[in-house]
Amino acid sequence: MTHIQHHAHDDILMGYATGTLPQAFDLVVASHVSLSDDARARLESLEAIGGAVLEDIDMVDLAEDSLSQTLAKIGGEAPIEAPQWKVGVFPSPLQQVVGGDEEAVRWRNVGRGVKQCILHSDEDGTVRLLSIPAGRSMPAHSHNGTEMTLVLKGAFRDEDGVFARGDIEVADANVDHTPVAEPGEDCICLVATDARLKFRGLLPRIAQPFLGI
Ligand code: ZN
Repeated sequence: MTHIQHHAHDDILMGYATGTLPQAFDLVVASHVSLSDDARARLESLEAIGGAVLEDIDMVDLAEDSLSQTLAKIGGEAPIEAPQWKVGVFPSPLQQVVGGDEEAVRWRNVGRGVKQCILHSDEDGTVRLLSIPAGRSMPAHSHNGTEMTLVLKGAFRDEDGVFARGDIEVADANVDHTPVAEPGEDCICLVATDARLKFRGLLPRIAQPFLGI
């Protein structure tokens, strides 16, 4: 397994385990946990602490239950007979929502070779797949809320370092960054936001309402 450098913090895992995250973020954390042995181990230990408090509750079941609730909420149907999702680029929680792996995504071009596919959007947040061509930069921006980005393929670099498959970056109003896809391979990310981004440039600000970013 790839060595994962950037992990979700315990407060995020705790929010996931207790079902208190906005649902847009649930899918990102479920996918991160699928890819990261470390995040899974920490989630289990947090659940064990919760289990010590609530002795009767099997917290592993609780986590599985929260995922199926998430899938139900965002329109992915919990399969009656679990199909064998093939091992691919996408972790299985994401394959269930997309209905397959990378090739099943209905991409929409948003300019300069960048593609996106909005998986779910409601008043609490939006979760989308984003594909950035190798070597291409995203517009410089800050955030009005929280942005959670999980790398699925390729890698990107910003002011906080390099993020590769399985890595997660959590950015908020204090983070001002310009993510750039690393050379060699297009970078595909799963991105959840609970508020509009704050772009510095005029063109991205004009395009923003059309892209739902
Ligand atoms: Zn950002």
